[in-house]
Amino acid sequence: MTPGGPNWLQPTAGSSAGGLPSLLPEPPEARVTRDADCLFCKIAGGEIPADVVRENERTLAFRDISPQAPTHVLVVPRDHHRDVASLAAAEPDTLAELVRTAADVAADEGIDAYRLVFNTGEQAGQSVFHVHVHVLGGRAMTWPPG
Ligand code: 5GP
Ligand code: ZN
Repeated sequence: MTPGGPNWLQPTAGSSAGGLPSLLPEPPEARVTRDADCLFCKIAGGEIPADVVRENERTLAFRDISPQAPTHVLVVPRDHHRDVASLAAAEPDTLAELVRTAADVAADEGIDAYRLVFNTGEQAGQSVFHVHVHVLGGRAMTWPPG
């Protein structure tokens, strides 16, 4: 037998136990609401690679492709919502989890001062319309932001 056994014996991402897939409830990813044209839905679905630093059933944290600070991580819900207000209205628990995950990322990175940013709307700098919080840290931050 190959190390780790055949694929069907291995736990899938997000499931807590191995065993027979046919006896498990449907995998969490099957319940996720997705937008086929959305970059971050594709990253959350594993179609586009990213440097993932944390993940769980509801959220994913990965490094920004164009970092603006020594630590620049984006935390997103797996479900598609266009901005933070939409997420707050639809899934307040997930929004709280996004913020908890952001704090966990900062702790993992060894930074005790960090900035969380939810750009909302084009004029505020939002370019990807799948809600994400920027976790920025590792250098001094100025205020007001540009
Ligand atoms: P926004 O401008 O919407 O607040 O933030 C979007 C962020 O996504 C930007 O900081 C941008 O650098 C980042 N980004 C855009 N495309 C990709 C990508 O393909 N992979 C990763 N990891 N980050 C991306
Ligand atoms: Zn999306």
